[in-house]
Amino acid sequence: MIDQPGMEYPGVVTSGNIYNSTVSDESLHRLVVHEIAHQWFYGMISNDPYHEAWLDEGFTEFATSFYLFSKSKDDIPYKTMYKQFENLTPLPVNLPLDQYGHNSSSYVYGKSSVMLWKLVEHRGGKKAAGKFLMNYYKEYNYKEVDTDEFIRFAKYYLHFKNNKAFNDWLAFQ
Ligand SMILES: [Zn+2]
Repeated sequence: MIDQPGMEYPGVVTSGNIYNSTVSDESLHRLVVHEIAHQWFYGMISNDPYHEAWLDEGFTEFATSFYLFSKSKDDIPYKTMYKQFENLTPLPVNLPLDQYGHNSSSYVYGKSSVMLWKLVEHRGGKKAAGKFLMNYYKEYNYKEVDTDEFIRFAKYYLHFKNNKAFNDWLAFQ
C-alpha cells in the first residue's frame, strides 16, 4: 500500500478511481506498478508488515523504480535520491511503524528503497539491481524473511565483509 489509494491482495490489486482522479497519470502508473510488485514482495516473500514493513514496502518500491528505470535510457539519479533524506532524522528503516509518528512512509518506502539502490550502485546499477531482485526472490519465495536474514543474504550475495553498508539505515536486532 502507498499513500495514494491502492492496495495489494493475493492475485489482485486495487488502485484509486481512474475516472475523475485527482492523481496524475504518472502517479497512477507508478501506483499500479507498485501494487503489482507486491505480488512478489508480500505475496510470494512474506515478512512482518508491522515490525518490519520495510521488507515488503521497500523492496516493492525498489522493484517499482527498477521497472521504471529499466524502461528509460537515463542514468539512475543517485544524487537526487540521496538528497531526499539529507534533512530526515537519521532513523533506521526497520523500526515498528508506531515509532515513526506520521512520517513512516519516508523511511519504510522511501529511504529503504534508496538504500537498496545504494547497495548495488557500484556493482552495476540497473543490471545489478535486476539480478539482486531475481536472486532474492529465488532464495526466499514461499518463505518469510526478517532484517537479519536480509543482511545475511545481501552480505553473501554482494560480498560485503562486514556490516558497514547497513549501519546507516538498519537497526540490528
Ligand atoms: Zn505498498
